[in-house]
Amino acid sequence: METKGFAALDAFRILAAVLVVAIHTSPLTGVSPEADFLLTRAVARVAVPFFLMVTGYFLARRDWRDGRRMIKKLAVLYLASAALYLPLNLYNGGYPPLEWLRRILIDGTFYHLWYFPAAILGIAVACLLRRLGKRGALAAALALYLAGLLGDSYWGLAGQLPILKTVYDGIFSVTSYTRNGLFYAPLFLLLGGWGLRLPRRMAAAGFGLSFLALGLEAWTLHTLHWQRHDSMYVLLPVTMVFLFALLLSCNRGQRPVLRRVSVLMYVLHPWCIILVRGGAKAVGLTELLVDNALIHFIVVLALSALLSLALARVSLPRLPKPTGRAWREIDLDAFVHNAAVLQTCLGARCRLMAVVKAEAYGHGDVLCARALQRNGVRDFAVAALSEAVALRKAGIRGTILVLGYTPPGEARTLRFWRITQTVVDEDHAAALAAQRIPVHVHLALDTGMHRLGIPAERLGAVKRIMGDRYLKVDGVFSHLCVSDSLTPEDAAYTQAQAALFYETVEKLRAAGLNPGKVHLQASYGALNLPEQPCDLGRMGIALYGVYSDGAPTARHPDLRPVLALRARIASVRTLEPGISAGYGLSFTAQRPTRLAVAAIGYADGLPRDWAACGGRMLVHGQYAPVVGRLCMDQTLLDVTGIPDVCQGDVVTVIGRDGGACIPAEEVAVQCGTITNELLSRLGGRLPTVPVGK
Ligand SMILES: *Cc1c(COP(=O)(O)O)cnc(C)c1O
Repeated sequence: METKGFAALDAFRILAAVLVVAIHTSPLTGVSPEADFLLTRAVARVAVPFFLMVTGYFLARRDWRDGRRMIKKLAVLYLASAALYLPLNLYNGGYPPLEWLRRILIDGTFYHLWYFPAAILGIAVACLLRRLGKRGALAAALALYLAGLLGDSYWGLAGQLPILKTVYDGIFSVTSYTRNGLFYAPLFLLLGGWGLRLPRRMAAAGFGLSFLALGLEAWTLHTLHWQRHDSMYVLLPVTMVFLFALLLSCNRGQRPVLRRVSVLMYVLHPWCIILVRGGAKAVGLTELLVDNALIHFIVVLALSALLSLALARVSLPRLPKPTGRAWREIDLDAFVHNAAVLQTCLGARCRLMAVVKAEAYGHGDVLCARALQRNGVRDFAVAALSEAVALRKAGIRGTILVLGYTPPGEARTLRFWRITQTVVDEDHAAALAAQRIPVHVHLALDTGMHRLGIPAERLGAVKRIMGDRYLKVDGVFSHLCVSDSLTPEDAAYTQAQAALFYETVEKLRAAGLNPGKVHLQASYGALNLPEQPCDLGRMGIALYGVYSDGAPTARHPDLRPVLALRARIASVRTLEPGISAGYGLSFTAQRPTRLAVAAIGYADGLPRDWAACGGRMLVHGQYAPVVGRLCMDQTLLDVTGIPDVCQGDVVTVIGRDGGACIPAEEVAVQCGTITNELLSRLGGRLPTVPVGK
């Protein structure tokens, strides 16, 4: 199972930056040339591949199609860094124009800046290679790496063959090394994207052994004098895969500030080397600060680290804490628990499809979908194409079914993001097919709701659609409209819908057509019907741990509410009897009244006349009635009976506080609606704060 956070990756970035500083200051030369070789030419060679792998890892988690954005980001960083070193370039005499171009595009404008053009070109190459499929891409990148290897630390071998020598000399007329964006970077980017996970012990053992062997390899090549350069080894990719798996296996939390510090250290340390040398010379301490390699390294490192830390703090955007005003607390443990419980209700052969439309019923769709994906859920449903694309961009794999209408002109977009579209009726099918772009679809059958779907009786039309060249029918489904009711008439209607649905599916099968995934139940289909002969169950409201309202159900699985809605007290004051408050002065104190203002209002999804229908919130675990008219951003509470209510205290609008609870169902019933509406209307400005694993 994937764990949350990347603390180990973030921490290792710093170590990698330290290793890069070591490469450029050779701290162990005073100890022995051999020790220095092993540190800077073998051990430290994990640093740059690590940076590339992290980039690949996050690209793959989001989407490789975001490669362009990553390239832009790197290009900006590269430009800024190049500008920083321009004075030094000019001081050293600069380059002729063609040489500038070559450096900017391939070798970097200052020695350490080669990383940026390499990463940029590497991402472009990796994205191209991915067209060969995952394995094909890795194989091709490996081939490029091996080709690079022969021009790097195995040059002594390759250079003996005249043909190879000619080829490589050609390459070296364009680029100083094969350690660049073509030969070197794509493999590590793709390996990072692969993100192999291993048990920690196995990863640690693998890393230990391969790292040791890498040292031996480097040493052997060194004694053979084969190296033209020394950044590529046969065992480096192996070592990196184990190292990365090890870091992934001990991830907890996040340290975004370390990411910035490591990048800044990488960019700034050559300036620090120059500053230390210049400074030492100016005060006559060259012997101590520069000639002793170890001290030199430590001083450069300290200066780079301090400078980077200071800059990182300045440049870190100051974002408000999400719990400053009003927020939604999302209990991911409860969410995952509900999914497991509902899966049991659906039965063994029927898979849970998570309905995460309308921002996962107001719970945050990306957050919720990711939590389920980590726990093995592979099927998602939304209402709109835009919701589907947002999920794909956030790294949700598997099936994403759009349950609602999508204009046929979007066929290309459906195909690009591998999104499955519902065919909502015959006209829709014809219009989609007319685009002549293959798209994956599920057919909606109307079995009695008379909303969307092809009337189930129109078998001929259904068969024709299933035979269409461009519509890849992966599933057939229907929707029940009174499955939330247990009255005999409604139960009979549901039975009739189900019977018509299965009958139609059987007829399709009998005609030799494959209906693909068959699905019928939404939440109340799972709560009120026995196990169904279906492949999927589209679970919405129940997944969020609440019932639509107080109506009885046939089954009572152990569902746990996922959302708590909380807000801060903005102000507290006392009203004398007869004094009125709020818009329209609709509340008048009958006795000395402590009035608290909760920083949440109707713009956050609460009804304006909530006081009139019995609205209340929890303050310090006690109920406080809502009074007056709700404002857009504030709600007045009578907290007279509750001692010590202060500005900044937390109030609970929905959820548990101490021993007391305000269930979402209670609020929904007060508002004359169902939880589905209440929750999905919660305002988009409420941050979602995940709690639990
Ligand atoms: C919204 C929706 C669901 C989920 O319904 P719940 O009652 O919230 O489980 C399932 N199927 C379709 C077609 C929907 O539109």
